[in-house]
Amino acid sequence: MSDTLGLRARWVLAEEGGRSTLLPDATVVVRDGRIRDVMPAGAEGAPDDTRLLGAHLLMPGFVNSHTHCVSGPLFRAVLEDRDYTSGGGSIISDVMMPLGRIISALCDEDDIRAIAALGQLEALCAGSTTIVDMPRADHDGFALAAADIGLRAQIHPYLMSPPGAEWRLDAQDDDSDAGLETFLRWHARFDGGTTGRIRIGLGPHAPDTCAPDLLRRIARARDHHGAPVTIHLAQSGDEVAQIHARLGMSPVDYLDRVGLLQGGLIAAHCSDATDADLALMASRGVVVAHCPLSYARIARMVSRQRFLDHGLRCTVASDAHALDIVADLRLAAINGKYATGKVAAAPAHEMVAAATVEAADALQRSDLGRIRPGATADLIAIRMDSAHLQPVYDPIKTLVWNGGGQDVDFAMVDGEVLLRDGRFLRADPAAIVAKGAAVTNRVWERARAQGII
Ligand SMILES: [Zn+2]
Repeated sequence: MSDTLGLRARWVLAEEGGRSTLLPDATVVVRDGRIRDVMPAGAEGAPDDTRLLGAHLLMPGFVNSHTHCVSGPLFRAVLEDRDYTSGGGSIISDVMMPLGRIISALCDEDDIRAIAALGQLEALCAGSTTIVDMPRADHDGFALAAADIGLRAQIHPYLMSPPGAEWRLDAQDDDSDAGLETFLRWHARFDGGTTGRIRIGLGPHAPDTCAPDLLRRIARARDHHGAPVTIHLAQSGDEVAQIHARLGMSPVDYLDRVGLLQGGLIAAHCSDATDADLALMASRGVVVAHCPLSYARIARMVSRQRFLDHGLRCTVASDAHALDIVADLRLAAINGKYATGKVAAAPAHEMVAAATVEAADALQRSDLGRIRPGATADLIAIRMDSAHLQPVYDPIKTLVWNGGGQDVDFAMVDGEVLLRDGRFLRADPAAIVAKGAAVTNRVWERARAQGII
């Protein structure tokens, strides 16, 4: 049997001459994990083993550049519609961080593996073939789950300074690897695993939880290991106020002073960055990961357009809560129109590009996020013949405005089919769901007993 596979679909979102193009009835040829050819309708020589996907949109898998696959299930219906601010606290300090601490106290590696697998399965089944995730430092089970599920995972364990850390910018650090132990352990244990699908990066949590000496160590480790870095940056007014109080500057200036504000950095959120901050980030080549749904749920409207206006590159990603990236693409489109007052702003095709080709470029992976000969075969197909998607005038617009992750019914990573006819192939999805939900319920029980939720 030939190991060459053809995938023919009603529409193929391919890259031709550097531009995304919708090809009707085209065939994508995959061999040894790579896309070998994109054959237009009627071309001769399709592989013997060519699968007819039918009324589908075959497109690059989403590159979800900011996720929390453990927190996704954990926060579900817990954070929404509740006012945590009446006591003067914040949703981050009063709910999210304490829930994370309960998980650490309660769950062993196998529990973490179960809850991470639930979130990762959700992400994959909704079309994300790549995730960039920031698990807590004691969640070694996260990478084990990624190996089980099979999606591509760039994993950045959280790095934070201990209480009582020295917050003087000119404080001399001791040139050691103190604070980087998780990164070093995970890098040695997991980096490059399952034939390169797992990559370990550095995950400083945020400027207000990482003191200057730790961030300088992280910059050195980035250079030494060639490891990618991602961070939450200017994600709240509280963070901005804290850094001003401690260091007399903005969080963005702070990152610049310790050598972290460079090309290759993915900065999540940046909702509270000033115009000057955004201009500096653009000049350094930083990419913003924009997660509009997270902010909508705390009554804040953040527009991607503001980042673009400052010359920044800006992906769209899921964050925690739901891991269905299509929901964030739709909200990014809506927010773009609200923010500008222009109907034509934030068009669907740009939203999809922000979560495919642009997100892949943010990861410095020009082989991902596009369908073209030579690219890695990370693909998804959207079933377009359901009532809520018919009739189809433009499948990209239909996906963003009418569709959702539940319409993804095929997914391939590295040429391996992981999802076919909407069903996960590597394991029983019901068992993954049941196990992950059971662990989450145990955490909620403890959080309720402690009055956190
Ligand atoms: Zn985050």
